[in-house]
Amino acid sequence: MYGDTSNLDEVRQRLNSVSPCFCLAKWKHVTIHLLNGTNHSCYLPPPHKIPLEEIARNPSALHNSSHKKQVRKDMLEGRRTKECGMCWTIEDLPGNQLSDRIVRGTETWTKPYFDEVRRMPWDADVFPAYMEVSFSSICNFKCSYCAPHVSTKWHEEIKQHGPYELSARHNDMQWVVDQGLMPIEDEDNNPYIEAFWKWWPDVYPHLKVFRVTGGEPLLSKHTFRVLDWIDEHPHTGLELDINSNLGVPTPVFERFLARVEKLTREKKIRHFKIHTSLDNFGAKAEYIRHGLDFERFQKHVHDYLTRLPQGDISFMSTFNILSVDGYERFLDWMIELREQHQKNGRWVNFDIPHLTGPMHLSARILTPDYQDKVAGLARYIQARVDEDRKKPRLRAIEFEKMRRIHEWMRQPLPEDQLRTLRHDFYLYFREHDRRRGTDFLATFPEMKGFWEFCRDLGKPKEPTLSL
Ligand code: SF4
Ligand code: SF4
Repeated sequence: MYGDTSNLDEVRQRLNSVSPCFCLAKWKHVTIHLLNGTNHSCYLPPPHKIPLEEIARNPSALHNSSHKKQVRKDMLEGRRTKECGMCWTIEDLPGNQLSDRIVRGTETWTKPYFDEVRRMPWDADVFPAYMEVSFSSICNFKCSYCAPHVSTKWHEEIKQHGPYELSARHNDMQWVVDQGLMPIEDEDNNPYIEAFWKWWPDVYPHLKVFRVTGGEPLLSKHTFRVLDWIDEHPHTGLELDINSNLGVPTPVFERFLARVEKLTREKKIRHFKIHTSLDNFGAKAEYIRHGLDFERFQKHVHDYLTRLPQGDISFMSTFNILSVDGYERFLDWMIELREQHQKNGRWVNFDIPHLTGPMHLSARILTPDYQDKVAGLARYIQARVDEDRKKPRLRAIEFEKMRRIHEWMRQPLPEDQLRTLRHDFYLYFREHDRRRGTDFLATFPEMKGFWEFCRDLGKPKEPTLSL
């Protein structure tokens, strides 16, 4: 997940020598949501719409949109582009905090391109070195923080029950339409997928990493078409990454594993990595990622790690309001997996980005006692850090990430906003339990006090007596 992080200060200085806003990810990384014609670089800023007339002229506009080129110009000229606010917030915190802008500058898909990028005209068409695409929103999960334009299961729920009625309507399809995020449901009739297949033979040789995301990619036929294409056009410099919730039926997972086993056994790619998500452990994780069967998930993780002895795995652990209690179990499992499977050059990784939206699920709205719990989690990681790969434990960068979350949680939010968000938290999960037959308090008994506190924020205020 990370490049060589031993020289972060040097990377910071190098990037800042171009401009304090310069980030190589804007050139060399792209996530393209072919399902609705949007893209972003990196994955943190909100996606922007790709004009159809731009891809009709030039399919590389899937990455090199006119919007993206303007943002690159801002970066080169030292203007803080609004869409990268998450990095500026972190960089403005006390204590020389580590932003993603710096971490991404260490990657194998950014670092070698520093000179090339800083010398090219701001409006040049660039081949990304790391490209991620999503073909379809088809998904068998409806994770708490996900949305109906990303998951068909979520879409079904909203069609049946309507949006969640919080202080504002949440996951309202009208909002999705207004934002231009409505997925194109017919995969066979999608101009962005067409543009992708036109651009693919040109961009393919330049890629160091190609990643497929979703929805759930193992449920899209284009994922299997990509696997077949690579089988016919080996690229020995390519790392192929697939995101999966690892919750598809086992026969589908078996079909996928067989294809990937062949690609790696016959050395048709340089490396394979699976990315999955887990934000807590056991029943708590099942609650956050609705549709997850934790036992099946563990089996698929085990099958993958056993059958692809060289294949990496990376867990995206989106640290959210429901991640704090019980997170030690997740960390222990990461250590166990590393002890069992991190050998012969393979990595078992996890990343801990903090969830920034929707805000009623953000750890930042928790009460200050939770800041102490997160400080405890940082200490828990720190006590288990060992960078020796022969004794795989936890890594210093993971401690840094948790320390950064703690610092971020301590930044105060305006009182009125906090009150609204906390009550939204309660309204959201009360309705979630009603619709989905779940039981919040049975799953998170440690959060009873916070739940009741948030519930009571909706009660009318006591009238104040005046004499
Ligand atoms: S959000 Fe940060 S890491 Fe991502 S492109 Fe912007 S500056 Fe770079
Ligand atoms: S598995 Fe991915 S696409 Fe599906 S609901 Fe969860 S976050 Fe959304």
